[in-house]
Amino acid sequence: MTDRATSLARALTDALRRSHPGDDPWLKAVEEVARDVLTVEKANSDFAAARVLERLAEPDRVIAFRVTWRDDAGNIQINRGWRVQQSNLLGPYKGGLRWHPGTSLGVLKSLAFEQVFKNALTGLPLGGAKGGADFDPAGRSEGEIERFALAFMTGLAPHIGPDLDVPAGDMGVGAHELGLLTRAWMMQAQAWGGALTGKPLCIGGSRLRKEATGYGLVYFLCAMLDDAGDSIQGRRIALSGRGNVAAHAARKALDLGGKVISLSSRSGVWHAPDGMSADAIDWLVDTPAEDAENPPAGLGLRFRAGEKPWALEPDIALPCATQNELDKNDAQALVDGGCRFLAEGANMPLTAEANALLTKAGVICAPGKAANAGGVAVSGMEMRQNAGFTRWSAEAVDTELRGIMKAMHRLVADEGRGGAARGNGAPDYGRGANLAAYRRLAQAVIEGGAQ
Ligand code: GLU
Repeated sequence: MTDRATSLARALTDALRRSHPGDDPWLKAVEEVARDVLTVEKANSDFAAARVLERLAEPDRVIAFRVTWRDDAGNIQINRGWRVQQSNLLGPYKGGLRWHPGTSLGVLKSLAFEQVFKNALTGLPLGGAKGGADFDPAGRSEGEIERFALAFMTGLAPHIGPDLDVPAGDMGVGAHELGLLTRAWMMQAQAWGGALTGKPLCIGGSRLRKEATGYGLVYFLCAMLDDAGDSIQGRRIALSGRGNVAAHAARKALDLGGKVISLSSRSGVWHAPDGMSADAIDWLVDTPAEDAENPPAGLGLRFRAGEKPWALEPDIALPCATQNELDKNDAQALVDGGCRFLAEGANMPLTAEANALLTKAGVICAPGKAANAGGVAVSGMEMRQNAGFTRWSAEAVDTELRGIMKAMHRLVADEGRGGAARGNGAPDYGRGANLAAYRRLAQAVIEGGAQ
């Protein structure tokens, strides 16, 4: 990183901070991209005159709404709901909905900004958005979830549609919740048209959508390893999380010959020094958190309360839990244990300090906007299936997903080496992803003139 790149990025975020006080997660996301792309923007008079990055940073539209619903005790509950429609330059607004108590507009703006870049990398006609609510589904009954979903969609429905904005799931919103939301949208819009993705298969979902982010992450990892003259065979892989992304990444990594040595939750880590069997992964993923702390003997799992996976000396780290889960100390533990590769399954799981430490130590790191784009890529396929009133086989979806992850790896690796012809060392995947996406988006900004 040159001093000029850093000072250009600082100047931009300082200016943005004055007009957006309190939006720190978003400013952090913009600054990270700005460091990689602003020198390129300043060197191109068209891009500079169009103020491309500043325009991409500012959401097209932010929708905020109240969600009022009645809990099982008969009391009125009030939550806040949002949809950040960041950019529809390349296609309809597209990105997940998150129901989590830590959700705020600042977090959603940072994720929406990232989503625009991620979706651009897939090469599919997808814009970028993110939304959700500060609602905690944990411990809520089925009836409460359903009433919340209906109330949430009352606020959101006027703003989405198959060509307008197509939300999907994210933390706290899985296929079941998307089924409820889809039905509520159909009733309000009086339409069937695939306004959401990640739906259950029987109401227009795609095969492999559930598996897509985790599978895609491992396909991207295999391409990174191949690029470095290595392979996944026998490699010790530490994963965090035990949700949708972690579960399917673990299964795919095991299928392809890797050794999965951990999964984790907020309360601790499950360690399998000799690698997890498929049965151990299935048990861990399917057992409620409170019962999983005492794994049955025979599965080869040890639960370590309060610990994280990063000191377990993996060759490869796949953080798949949540943003900022891996800090400077964790990064140091990875380096000390000999970790060589890291790919982000979660969105922005590394703190800025962790990222800098790993990069300096020569660990090859792939950002989530490339490595976890398999989920939104299969969402793009779900949109195509819905629009064509057709359904693809699992093999067809998997083949397309592998192709997209491989092509994206090539694009990002080439850009991260400073162009296909230059440099033989490991690519800078972070810079490669930001620049490759930026070039696609900048062209689209220019074509649209001053709008
Ligand atoms: N929430 C996922 C993501 O972060 C999926 C988004 C989508 O499928 O629209 O990419």
